[in-house]
This record gives sequence, C-alpha cells and structure tokens, in this order.
Amino acid sequence: MLATAGCNQSNSTVTPARQGEENKVSPPALVGTGAGEVGLSDRNSLTSGSSSQSRPIEVVTTFLPMYWFTKAVAGNLVRVEVLLPPGTEVHEYQATPKDVQAIAQADVLVKNGLGLEEFLENTIKNARNTQLKQIEASRGIKPLQEISPVVEVADKADRDHKHEHEHSAGNPHVWLDPILAIEQVENIRDGLIAADPGNKVTYQANAAAYIQQLQALDREFQQRLQQYPNCTFVTFHDAYPYLAQRYQLKQVAVVQIPEDQLSPGDIQKTISTVKQYKVKALFGESGTDNKLLKNLSQDLKLNLSVLDSLESGSVDPQHYFTAMKANLQTLEAACR
Ligand SMILES: [Zn+2]
Repeated sequence: MLATAGCNQSNSTVTPARQGEENKVSPPALVGTGAGEVGLSDRNSLTSGSSSQSRPIEVVTTFLPMYWFTKAVAGNLVRVEVLLPPGTEVHEYQATPKDVQAIAQADVLVKNGLGLEEFLENTIKNARNTQLKQIEASRGIKPLQEISPVVEVADKADRDHKHEHEHSAGNPHVWLDPILAIEQVENIRDGLIAADPGNKVTYQANAAAYIQQLQALDREFQQRLQQYPNCTFVTFHDAYPYLAQRYQLKQVAVVQIPEDQLSPGDIQKTISTVKQYKVKALFGESGTDNKLLKNLSQDLKLNLSVLDSLESGSVDPQHYFTAMKANLQTLEAACR
C-alpha cells in the first residue's frame, strides 16, 4: 500500500498574488471607527444602513491559514488580502515592495506569530503605517519547542537554514491542531471587533459558525484516531507536533532530505532511527522529492504517505476542512 496522497493541492493551487478582487463586494454600510464602542449593544448593526461615511476596513493576512480564518470571520464585510501567494514557501519567504505597500494601506494585519513571519519585521517598519493594528493569532498559545529529534542526513548548512525559523519562538505550526485553530479564530475575531466594533455582531456570528465546524472536526479526529494511541511517525517537515500531541500520536523525528540524493550512510542513519522508535509511518508532503522518499520508504519497509501542512492550497476558507479530513484519512490508514 503506497502513498495515500490525494491531500495535496499543488495542482489546484490558485495563485492570486492578491486576494482583493473577489472580495470587493461592497459591504453594507459600516460603522467603523466609533470610539468607545463597549458593551453588548448592537445598535450599530450592519443592516441599519447607518449614516456613517466610514469605509470598510482593509485587512491584510500573511499566509494561507491566516487568510482562511480571517476570511471566515470577516465574510464579505471587509476586504481581506493575503501577502504570500498560495503555493509560496512560507518558511523562506522574502517580502516584496508590494507587501510593504499592502501593509502601508491596511488597517489591520493578521499574522500567525511564533516566529513564522520573520520577513515582516522590516516590512512593517518600511510601511510606516502608524495606524496599523496587528493581530497575532497565536497570542496566548503556549508554543511547543522543537520536540522532534532531527535525523541529520542533510548537510549541516541546509539543515540550519531550514530550521532557522523554528528555533526563535517555538514551533509555529499551531494551525494544524483544530483546537488551537479555534484559539486563533477567536483571537482574529476579537482583533477585528476591536478594529471595527460596528460589525461586532457579524464577526461573532461568523466566527461561531466556523468554530463549530472546527469542534466537529476535532471530534472526528478524536473518534477516529483514538484506536491508534502512540502511533509513531517520521516526517520531513517539523509541522505536526501539535496535531500529534492533541491526538496521542508521536512525531518522533524529522528527516532533513538533502537536495540531491541520499548517501548509503544517510539511509543507514534513517533506518536505525526508524528501528529505535518503532516507527509506523513515514509522511512526506508535496514539494519534496517523492522519488527519493519512495526509495527511502522501500529501504525502510514503511509506507510513505503524504500529509498536508496547509501552507498551500485553495483560498476557500472551507479548504481547511477538506485538507484536514484528507490528513485524518492519511493518518488513520498509516496507523492502522
Ligand atoms: Zn511549515
């Protein structure tokens, strides 16, 4: 049984550099900037066609999961853009002048945090937008430090480069755990409400609907994976420690694949790791050299399947669920 795959969207990946267009739906009159909007009152209900002349807020997100979560909460009320064209490697992204411009014009910036968006530091500085409100979706989430030992098969320079971002602030891949995704959606909801209190009711309702879907997804993961406690796997991208911890799986090692090919010594190292940890499954992902991995999996006598870190894919907020359910199927099949 080989690669369950199917969960990679590389070929369906739309690549709109800017998500503006489709979201330009002119919103119902917004009552934006009213100061001192506290309390439960929904007197600024968006349907009231208020007299305010304020424009809809403009929201910029960094990469795909932040775009999905923000778009799910904002609906068509405001314009939501994404800086990284889907399909772009987030861990090695370099900001462009267009990014600076987008941030210069935005009211709100939504980022994952936990060191993922190091490219933002100078970008924000250069944008000189003193009004910019930043929402850090991971705020309040306790990060896991890098818990997976790394099998050193790649040359050192390559490895250091790839892992750079994960050392600074813990592992950033919290969006792959549906429960932590809920926390991210809540942070985004609260940040949007703070920036645009007039639409509080809509943000709350949209967030509640999306959170309900995330809760259902979590239950499905619990139910279907509980039969495989401590299912142990090796990956090639340190993206799954939160997911593993949530559902009692074990990501035990990350194999760094060199650019060209594995030497017999590399293969030996990996084989001994796999034996040491009683590894059940090997997960690659799209974008990695699958032929290399396939050969490796044959040497290891392990199935190789594909997990999706959700760093690329369709821009539809519902894609989160499609991709995560594919991941669930992959995990279930591999752990069986
Ligand atoms: Zn990643």
